[in-house]
Amino acid sequence: MPSVESAYKMPTSNARRLAAEGLPSYGSLFSLGRNATKTCSGEVAAQSAFNPDDPERLQGREDGSSPSKLKALIFNMQKFSLNDGPGIRTVVFFKGCPLRCRWCSNPESQLRKPQIQWDPRSCIHCHHCEELCPRSAISFIETSGKERIRIDEGRCNACGRCVIECPKEALSCRGVWRSVDDVLQFVAQDKVFYEESGGGLTLSGGEPLLWPEFCCALLGAASAQGIDSCIETTAYADPQVFRRVASCLDHMFIDMKQANSSYHRAATGVSNELIKANTSWAISSGKDVTLRLPVIPGFNDSREDAEAFCGYLKDVGATRVQILPFHQYGEAKYEELGYDYELAGMRSLHAEDLSDFQRIFIEHKLDAYF
Ligand code: SF4
Ligand code: SF4
Repeated sequence: MPSVESAYKMPTSNARRLAAEGLPSYGSLFSLGRNATKTCSGEVAAQSAFNPDDPERLQGREDGSSPSKLKALIFNMQKFSLNDGPGIRTVVFFKGCPLRCRWCSNPESQLRKPQIQWDPRSCIHCHHCEELCPRSAISFIETSGKERIRIDEGRCNACGRCVIECPKEALSCRGVWRSVDDVLQFVAQDKVFYEESGGGLTLSGGEPLLWPEFCCALLGAASAQGIDSCIETTAYADPQVFRRVASCLDHMFIDMKQANSSYHRAATGVSNELIKANTSWAISSGKDVTLRLPVIPGFNDSREDAEAFCGYLKDVGATRVQILPFHQYGEAKYEELGYDYELAGMRSLHAEDLSDFQRIFIEHKLDAYF
């Protein structure tokens, strides 16, 4: 049996993706200036407006002209969500995440730049995209008798040519630069449902805290309209950034993935000390915090893991945890993005599989629910 740590070693495909993203160092990620490109490589119509080699664009800097004009890279906005905070909510999904969890069900959220997604059901394998790409970013490989796309994210600049020219519309671009005004207008359309249900706006991702200026501007504008706010976050952020955004929020959902920091690093690419410190601060500051625990077979689902999580919860002062059984909803997206998926075929879990696991929390007088 391999050790958990070696079994969850950062996969080379993830390391490649991080390098392709050209992310700045952890510290500098949070000190980005507010001068920025106004371009939107995700929107084909806006292609002529940007220089694909602009290094500022690759760092995803925010547009600093005025708070309501700030832009962030958003890959989805979803109305009528019932599982992302109290009541009926609109969830805004930000692109970019400092973690690389091997079970991620939103792999399209990870890169902090627009990226090409492929629909294998529509593709006729004509290879036109491969031939036309000016940066030789597209190739096809064959595995198990099936041809699959590979997109070299270090080369692709999201120029959109392949999206436009694919004869079967099998390619699309994930990630669109949206302004605070634009997002707020969309969110405010459902105010009547928020008022009826106690719902509101939820920031999710990816990691919203990679876009602190945008988040604060959006949350301030939403609050001015009486819209309740929530975040789903890894809490892996500079403490100053974390506190600043947290001060604008009504509710927080913070992930807790592994109590053992070196196992955490092996499976997600980062250690858990910063996450733990930020979580502890949020709870001690009186924020409405719920911990969320994705339970992954062979990684954090043992009795020992549950006992260690109880200690973690007590350390940070939490009394409430939502248990999220592992699922495979994101599996197809890995193929669509041209990624390998290392948990392919792993059995999904259900609440009934985790009743013993849940009981351990209850024995420790913690409120653990599904
Ligand atoms: S994605 Fe489009 S252009 Fe590329 S091989 Fe498939 S059908 Fe042809
Ligand atoms: S968007 Fe398509 S054509 Fe443009 S660089 Fe990326 S893969 Fe190549």
